[in-house]
Amino acid sequence: MSIYDYDLFVIGAGSGGVRAARMSAGFGAKVAIAEDRYLGGTCVNVGCVPKKLFVYASHFTEEFENAKGFGWQPGKAEFNWQTLLDNKNREISRLNEIYGGLLDSTGVTLFDGRATVVDEHSVSVNQKTISAERILVATGGWPSVPDIPGKEHIVTSNEAFFLEKLPESIVIVGGGYIAVEFAGIFHGLGVDTTLLYRGELFLRGFDQEIREHLHAEMKKKDINILFNTNIDAIEKDGEKYNAELNSGENMSTGLIMYATGRHPKTEGLGLQAAGVELNSKGAVVVNDEYQTSVVSIYAIGDVTDRVNLTPVATAEGTVLARRLYDGQSGAVDYADIPTCVFSQPNLGTVGLTEEQARAEYSEVTIYKSTFTPMKYSLSSSDEKTFMKLIVDKQSDKVVGVHMLGPDAGEIIQGIGIAIKAGATKAQFDATIGIHPTTAEEFVTMRTPVSD
Ligand code: FAD
Ligand code: NDP
Repeated sequence: MSIYDYDLFVIGAGSGGVRAARMSAGFGAKVAIAEDRYLGGTCVNVGCVPKKLFVYASHFTEEFENAKGFGWQPGKAEFNWQTLLDNKNREISRLNEIYGGLLDSTGVTLFDGRATVVDEHSVSVNQKTISAERILVATGGWPSVPDIPGKEHIVTSNEAFFLEKLPESIVIVGGGYIAVEFAGIFHGLGVDTTLLYRGELFLRGFDQEIREHLHAEMKKKDINILFNTNIDAIEKDGEKYNAELNSGENMSTGLIMYATGRHPKTEGLGLQAAGVELNSKGAVVVNDEYQTSVVSIYAIGDVTDRVNLTPVATAEGTVLARRLYDGQSGAVDYADIPTCVFSQPNLGTVGLTEEQARAEYSEVTIYKSTFTPMKYSLSSSDEKTFMKLIVDKQSDKVVGVHMLGPDAGEIIQGIGIAIKAGATKAQFDATIGIHPTTAEEFVTMRTPVSD
């Protein structure tokens, strides 16, 4: 008989927390989980899921236009923001229920409230102290907004999913995943969209050339993109907002959205008082086994601020549950994680950028292709697809694959398996293509570009 109320108490029912809780319970552990906001966490409620639904919604504008080349004469399309919001909210409620059901069916006790850590073996939730042999912190992250005058007037992605009405114009600040994805969303929904990024070119850390191609495609769509630009101050001006730019110019707009990164949600959690080490950004520091500086307290997902993606948080939850309650010793392999920016067009990538590959290997061979996808051959779209393979010349191993084009996320997911398996360029070449597809280009690129 355990001296604790629970074997495992999980704080946060997001991607990582729910996975760890229900798997641990499945292995026989007595598990409780606390959630103070929404079941399913960021991804389900204000992240991946509603974002992807909005990306679909916003892409119809182009589809209607492209249909004309195939003989269709669609009538005047009208968009209703409220319908999209209602349907999105209904779908998310359905997913919230599924998450509740998953916890319930595996016997996890759900506490509806904010939990804080009291000490190495106890948490407090709804004025109740509960003991647990182990505590798992899976509290995720929260948008970061720089401290500028007028910052109370802005929205972040959290609010963007619930706007009462669509503005006529928007300024989006940032150059990461969220800024680029939302620029495509608002533009596609008919909002006059400006993207401001403080650096030379957005999506720092991605392959330079693919960033340049995405910039070119977004400009073709008439998204106003300003690099080396930031906002110094914001003022409300009647129904509009006035942004004072670092260039000295002013910009008037209907809404200002900040997508300037996220920080780990550790404030007021009681972690430091319990002896848990946090880094300078407030992220929980963990070892390879997700254990913090307090041996009975663990952390996974965005709160550790490493690779902030849903499949990584769930993989960490799986590995931790197996390790703690099923005697398994596996680890998450952080190499070659495929990822997709759901920009329009999509940017999918796995493995090294050309810049990283050139730094790591003595000789690399690059294969590239830029073309008009067949789907656009009868339409007026001048969108180009770009694909790139990076090969270590000595071993012939494909070490990086990048794609900008429709469904790049879907395609790169499959290519990711080949990269994980260590496929060589010869094996790519020996793979028969599926014709006619865009993806077949990855197995038919034969001529390397000259250095
Ligand atoms: P979360 O999912 O954030 O869950 C943490 C949970 O803990 C939350 O429900 C929170 O309410 C709860 N909580 C916090 N503190 C407490 C407390 N004290 N007591 C009780 N409960 C608490 N990733 C992708 O892979 N693909 C995408 O397309 C993608 N799109 C995204 C789009 C946006 C706009 C955003 C913001 C993120 C996106 N992400 C995407 C990232 C992804 O959402 C996160 O990596 C993922 O949700 C992290 O999971 P987690 O379990 O660590 O945290
Ligand atoms: P990112 O960290 O990806 O990007 C933040 C951006 O904001 C960077 O361009 C950064 O510039 C800029 N920035 C930071 N501080 C300031 C400032 N003070 N003033 C102006 N600009 C600033 O964060 P996001 O918010 O876009 O997304 C958070 C994370 O969520 C992502 O990193 C990703 O892990 C995850 N996510 C994943 C998605 C997916 O898988 N499709 C989609 C959305 C989010 P600089 O580059 O110069 O530092």
